[in-house]
Amino acid sequence: MKKDDCIFCKLANGDIPTNTIYEDDDFRVFLDAAPVTRGHCLIVPKEHFDSLEQLDDKVAAKVMPLARKMMKLLKDKLGWDGFNIIQNNGKVAGQTVFHFHTHLIPRYNDDGQDLVMKPMPLKDGDIETVLNEII
Ligand code: 5GP
Ligand code: ZN
Repeated sequence: MKKDDCIFCKLANGDIPTNTIYEDDDFRVFLDAAPVTRGHCLIVPKEHFDSLEQLDDKVAAKVMPLARKMMKLLKDKLGWDGFNIIQNNGKVAGQTVFHFHTHLIPRYNDDGQDLVMKPMPLKDGDIETVLNEII
């Protein structure tokens, strides 16, 4: 199902033109309009899901194989040195477009980009405490 007021529904389904590098029945992969590195693109399903929580399992199962396929294409064409796959869910996690999507970010030795995670402060026992809350 498409959502009427969703920009990514329009982009993924071709209602608004994109710089598409790949398309099939379920997805469109296009260049991000504000790339963080050369070749930064987005895997976007044609069907609307707000985030990973709502994503259909059948669609979800196709995302990583497609990411690998795009990684190979981008390796051949752009020759990256490393690769980040980022998928944001919720405002606090950096999601700004509320239609599920996956960032494919080719990395280059000299790209000057900093996507490194910062460890949180930790007290003795914190890891065991959270483990016991989860299991
Ligand atoms: P998020 O922050 O939700 O994980 O990522 C949204 C991404 O979509 C951002 O990287 C942003 O640059 C990209 N974006 C937002 N609007 C458009 C658009 O109209 N066209 C394209 N190609 N990318 C967009
Ligand atoms: Zn949508």
